[in-house]
Amino acid sequence: QVETLKEKLLEQAQEISRLRSELGGTDVEKHRDLLAAENERLRQEMKACETELRELQRQQQAPCRDCPHLQENARLQEQLSQLQREAEETRAKLVELDLEVQQKTNRLAEVELRLKDSLAERAEEEERLSRRLRDSQETIASLKSQPPQIKYIIKTVEVESAKAKQALCETQSRNQYLQEQVGMQKQVLKEMEQQLQSSQKTEAQLRAQIMMYEAELERAHGQMLEEMQAMEEEKNHAIEEAFSRAQVEMKAVHENLAGVRTNLLTLQPALRTLTHDYNCLKRQVRDFPLLLQETLRSARAEISQAIEEVHSTNRELLRKYRRELQLRKKCHNELVRLKGNIRVFGRVRPITKEDGEGPEAANAVTFDADDDAVLYLLHKGKQVSFELDKVFPPQASQEEVFQEVQALVTSCIDGYNVCIFAYGQTGAGKTYTMEGTAANPGINQRALQLLFSEVRGKAADWDYTITVSAAEIYNEALRDLLGKEPQEKLEIKLCPDGSGQLYVPGLTEFRVQSVEDINKVFEFGHLKRATECTNLNEHSSRSHALLIVTVRGLDRSTGLRTTGKLNLVDLAGSERVGRSGAEGSRLREAQHINKSLSALGDVIYALRSRQGHVPFRNSKLTYLLQDSLSGDSKTLMMVQVSPAEKNSSETLCSLKFAERVRSVELGPVSRKAELGSWPSQEHLEVLKTRLGDSPGSSASPGRGHASPSPGQLSSRSASIRRKLQTSG
Ligand code: ADP
Ligand code: MG
Repeated sequence: QVETLKEKLLEQAQEISRLRSELGGTDVEKHRDLLAAENERLRQEMKACETELRELQRQQQAPCRDCPHLQENARLQEQLSQLQREAEETRAKLVELDLEVQQKTNRLAEVELRLKDSLAERAEEEERLSRRLRDSQETIASLKSQPPQIKYIIKTVEVESAKAKQALCETQSRNQYLQEQVGMQKQVLKEMEQQLQSSQKTEAQLRAQIMMYEAELERAHGQMLEEMQAMEEEKNHAIEEAFSRAQVEMKAVHENLAGVRTNLLTLQPALRTLTHDYNCLKRQVRDFPLLLQETLRSARAEISQAIEEVHSTNRELLRKYRRELQLRKKCHNELVRLKGNIRVFGRVRPITKEDGEGPEAANAVTFDADDDAVLYLLHKGKQVSFELDKVFPPQASQEEVFQEVQALVTSCIDGYNVCIFAYGQTGAGKTYTMEGTAANPGINQRALQLLFSEVRGKAADWDYTITVSAAEIYNEALRDLLGKEPQEKLEIKLCPDGSGQLYVPGLTEFRVQSVEDINKVFEFGHLKRATECTNLNEHSSRSHALLIVTVRGLDRSTGLRTTGKLNLVDLAGSERVGRSGAEGSRLREAQHINKSLSALGDVIYALRSRQGHVPFRNSKLTYLLQDSLSGDSKTLMMVQVSPAEKNSSETLCSLKFAERVRSVELGPVSRKAELGSWPSQEHLEVLKTRLGDSPGSSASPGRGHASPSPGQLSSRSASIRRKLQTSG
């Protein structure tokens, strides 16, 4: 056992020495030193590269600033910095590797230390074991010498060898552990070698990169140099060019200068003349106020002379204007005289409900489609034709009627007196034509409206005042319709100033300024009339209603004054009242009406036939209207008729009255002829028969010699009308 143990010990010692040689710490250390030296060399190389780089950069920065290849340069620089960065990274990696190598070396040293420790431990153990071995041998020797005790000693040895066995086991396990450690260390070493290899590879790569960069740098440097050279050449070229250009320009400037010099030489005399002119102007400016005053004086004189001339021309013109005005008036009068200042219109009202039904209400009036002055009446089976100045059929509107009348109304503004009468039997439409309805006013209201608008149009040159009076004549008594005392009978008197004019003391005159004023006046008049009589309709048909409008004008420029009167008369009903049927007041009324209407006929006749005496005084109506019927006054007789069959005889009377009144008024020559074939006395008789006291014996239609047949009449009137048209 001791032998085997010795052998084992030997083996272990050998193993230990082998292990030690295997570990070869010195080799690793050598390798590491080699690596460190290599590392150091690389570092130095890098440093050299860096300094070279810096040098190159400096060179690069120094020469050109505005080089067009700066961009390329910048790019290269950027690449360079990138490379530097990469180099830096590599360096960091190297440092890292260094650190790692260091760590590993440390660990290696540690492992070695531990190995040494274990070796020392083993040596100790060995020694202990050898000592024990020696002890054991000694013991064995002593035991050999003491045989009886051997068994015991052997036992002891056996026991002790068991202990040695255990120690051996422990040592073996320890050995195994150490071997494992050595294996691990080997592994680590291998790894480190691998790492070293990779770092060598990287280093080679880096080196190749550095080489590449160097080549690139060199190339960039070459390029830069080339560019610099090119730029230098360019610069020289540009300088040369600029120099030559400057020379040319200089030459031109020299030439210009010469031109300017010559110009200056020529300008001097011009300057002299300018200075002279300037001095002249200065003198003129000094003299200007005087001159101005002089001119102003003469201009003023001229202007005042011109004004004087204009003034005299104006005066002359005004004189001429006045003369023209008078001439116009004269002409107008002449025209009126020629045309006749009495015009007779007929108006046929439509058939109304009041006319009833059946044959009595049948239409008896027809019209001529081609002549608006002719109408036909069917009376007792015969058709009678009448010719007036104009005939309005039933469908004629108030507006149309007024259209024909408005010239008369406006002539009132020019200072003419105008009378418009509505004549006809009761219910024939007199009041409708004169007053109309609220929705459809008649001549009265329209005339006043027209007067207002005309006056407004002339307001620039004329001042006008319009006054209105309203009166009625009932049973030959004149009463004021606007006065406070309506029952009071008014008198017509001669003006005390000896002008021969008539006036009605106490007749109320309202000044009207607007349409509203007129409406108020009309309303007032109506109210008065309505409160005074029990049956207004009946009363109004028995009396004449007058609306007297006076227009007074003053021409501000000429001082001319005009006064025109417009008399709008709604006459009493013209129907005949049977002598037998009427009594008392009814008879008296009829007599008064007949008297005044026949007086109106007489007056008109006398006026037309230009008789020396005109019987104005025969009735209140003609007396009151004396100055509006005589002279160059104008009169319109609107004869109203009903178309109903039952009214045909009254219609016939009215139309005959109309035609006769109209036929009196003809041109001077024609009149003579008329009068020759129709003696005035006879005509008067006819009129009197119609208008006078014997209504029963009134003229029957188309009767023999007294009246020409309607056909004859109409053709004669037409020829006269033609004559009038050609003459004027
Ligand atoms: P007068 O005054 O002659 O007695 P009115 O004017 O009172 O007659 O008329 C009698 C009736 O006939 C009234 O109802 C009136 O409205 C109507 N009348 C008269 N003429 C016309 C006309 N042209 N259009 C419509 N109605 C009319
Ligand atoms: Mg009436």
